[in-house]
Amino acid sequence: MIRLNRLIAQLLFLVPKSLVEIFAKQYIAGETLSQALEKTRELNDLKIDVTLDFLGEDPQKKRDCRAAVDVYKKAIKEIHNRNLKSGISLKPSQMGLKINKQFCFDNLHDLIDHARKHMVFVRIDMEDTSLKEDTIDLYLKLKKEFENVGIVMQAYLRSAIADINGMIQAHANIRLCKGAYYWEDRKVAYKDMNIINSSYAYLMEKLLSNNCFTGIATHDEKLLFEAMKLIDKLGVSKEKYEFQMLYGVQEDLRKIIHDHGHSIRVYVPFGKDWFAYSVRRLKENPKMVSYIFTNGIKNIFSH
Ligand SMILES: Cc1cc2nc3c(=O)[nH]c(=O)nc-3n(C[C@H](O)[C@H](O)[C@H](O)COP(=O)(O)OP(=O)(O)OC[C@H]3O[C@@H](n4cnc5c(N)ncnc54)[C@H](O)[C@@H]3O)c2cc1C
Repeated sequence: MIRLNRLIAQLLFLVPKSLVEIFAKQYIAGETLSQALEKTRELNDLKIDVTLDFLGEDPQKKRDCRAAVDVYKKAIKEIHNRNLKSGISLKPSQMGLKINKQFCFDNLHDLIDHARKHMVFVRIDMEDTSLKEDTIDLYLKLKKEFENVGIVMQAYLRSAIADINGMIQAHANIRLCKGAYYWEDRKVAYKDMNIINSSYAYLMEKLLSNNCFTGIATHDEKLLFEAMKLIDKLGVSKEKYEFQMLYGVQEDLRKIIHDHGHSIRVYVPFGKDWFAYSVRRLKENPKMVSYIFTNGIKNIFSH
């Protein structure tokens, strides 16, 4: 089923955007910052923390990166002024990493400094492996100066064990996920889901047993069970971990975990540039195949 999902994901560019949008909307808070802030308030009222993600990957021009910085600055100010429990998540490519590394560093520095003044945490997302080394390098430089910054590690990468060892040495703040860029080459990423899950469990144990703050970012119930087991076995304190889930995914499970007394943070994307993000989510949705077959194929041939 996963293979079929991936094949269909590769063909999604054939599906009219208006159709993808219908299904994609469940994963997005809205196109505007004010819609995202409203969702944040709703989630906070349920005692759920948030991280806001302004959608946009791979801008080609410096001015587009600066525009994204401005949106994030506004979001940070609003989070502070409205007393919301939210951080922000951002993509290095959106900050200009593919244009120029120093330009990206300057944007990140500017934003993280602004966030520190407003007591907001900044999480640097991890993109595909072509950006991994630079992302780690930028993070480690920024971490020397700022405490309000964290990074993401992807369990599907063969290099993850070595990278996590480095992060433990640096007392990093980590979000651990499986990894979303499924087209990575076999040379760099595991392709077998059993190995990815085993890698996830191993890395999670390393992080938790070495006192690194760990954002356990998965909707996989088996891994969530492994996490509970570890938290109990190691006596991990509440300040050292939280569960993280994506907006619109497994909300029932999220509630169950929260009702059992664990902290939860939800990743809330917003913005007009929703297509690439939504396609990644659609390919991970086990129900996508039946949806696309029943609604999509008909539409493809009628256009
Ligand atoms: C808070 C957060 C931040 C993330 N940040 C990054 C990042 O910076 N870089 C990166 O590469 N990846 C990131 N990811 C994505 C992650 O790498 C995975 O691609 C994604 O979370 C799916 O993996 P999973 O662990 O939920 O396991 P899966 O095996 O994909 O899913 C487990 C189960 O969850 C349910 N499920 C999962 N996805 C969906 C969906 N879209 N719709 C409906 N049901 C679904 C299904 O029931 C599925 O069987 C992030 C994920 C989270 C939760």
